[in-house]
Amino acid sequence: MFVSVPPVYDTLLDALRRPLRSLRISVTDRCNLRCAYCMPREAFGRDFVFLRHADLLSFEEIVRVARQAIALGVRKIRLSGGEPLLRRGIERLVEMLAGLHDETGRPIELAMTSNGVLLAKKARALKGAGLARLNISLDALDETVFQRICGSDAPLAAVLEGINAAQAAGFAPLKVNAVIKRAVNESEILPLARHFRHTGVILRFIEFMDVGTTNGWRLDDVVSADEILARIDQEFPLYPLAPRHAGEVGKRWQFMDGGGEIGVIASVTQTFCHECDRLRLSTDGKLYTCLFASDGADLRTPLRAGEEDAQLRQRIANVWGGRRDRYSQLRHIASEASARKIEMSYIGG
Ligand code: SAM
Ligand code: SF4
Ligand code: SF4
Repeated sequence: MFVSVPPVYDTLLDALRRPLRSLRISVTDRCNLRCAYCMPREAFGRDFVFLRHADLLSFEEIVRVARQAIALGVRKIRLSGGEPLLRRGIERLVEMLAGLHDETGRPIELAMTSNGVLLAKKARALKGAGLARLNISLDALDETVFQRICGSDAPLAAVLEGINAAQAAGFAPLKVNAVIKRAVNESEILPLARHFRHTGVILRFIEFMDVGTTNGWRLDDVVSADEILARIDQEFPLYPLAPRHAGEVGKRWQFMDGGGEIGVIASVTQTFCHECDRLRLSTDGKLYTCLFASDGADLRTPLRAGEEDAQLRQRIANVWGGRRDRYSQLRHIASEASARKIEMSYIGG
């Protein structure tokens, strides 16, 4: 399908009339953890073959793609992975992306999602390089549960220090994301809520999703956002907050006693495909239009063949213009489920 590139001040819409607003970039497919719901050790063991360095997009290539995506409407860029802090020189990429502006001269919003293990040493440099927002993933406060769910003997203290360092560096509000899996860490819902109340950290619970093909997902293992909220509300009454903007995936709640904000991302039980505005760039330069896609559009080959910016932009516009994805809305229809879904660590969660 051919879509003419609109002038940069127009809105590029996909086939279901959703605008392109957000770009997620996976900067590495490697990780220092092996979370059971993402990169289970059985599938990502010692002999797993990760991408070679030469296969990764260079920082310059990433920035070229980002520039063209911004010209087509992207206003938010999130660095993810794998674990983004494992990519050598990540602060330099942050600095390069933080310098990008939209056509009105406004800087784009640059964010990162990290497991926090290496953050204590890097938080200040990331802030200094221009990173605006940081989400840290933490699924448990009990060391045994933490190490079981993250499939690693990484110390919980390292993540907690990372969170402190990020707050000290000025990331505010800092978000902490917890994926809840039935019978694995549902016991951590209340301890997490208690721990982060009155700290300025916004804790958000994410429903366990069927990304990739290795995490053994079953609907029975999903603890719904409603159930999570009900459990918290029993101890700490909550009231809902209005969304701040269209396309906000997290539903926001406030502790009635002034303990701060809390959120849920109900990607399984309350799908938000109808306002999904995210494009994803994989570690090796493929564009994906859905977290649950099986095929991506290769940008690395044209980038390395010296394609001009205008052609590159046209290529991205074509991918977005032809987009019809709404996997989460169709999840229950077996024939729509893709058997070849790519892994989250590769596409960038
Ligand atoms: N390594 C970094 C981290 O863990 O924050 C960034 C990449 S990780 C793939 C991004 C986010 O995806 C994390 O918050 C993680 O908890 C979430 N995630 C991974 N697999 C998931 C799944 N099956 N269901 C829901 N969320 C998932
Ligand atoms: Fe690594 Fe993040 Fe996936 Fe956990 S969720 S295995 S930390 S990429
Ligand atoms: Fe967006 Fe795909 Fe998730 Fe729907 S399933 S919200 S289209 S990434």
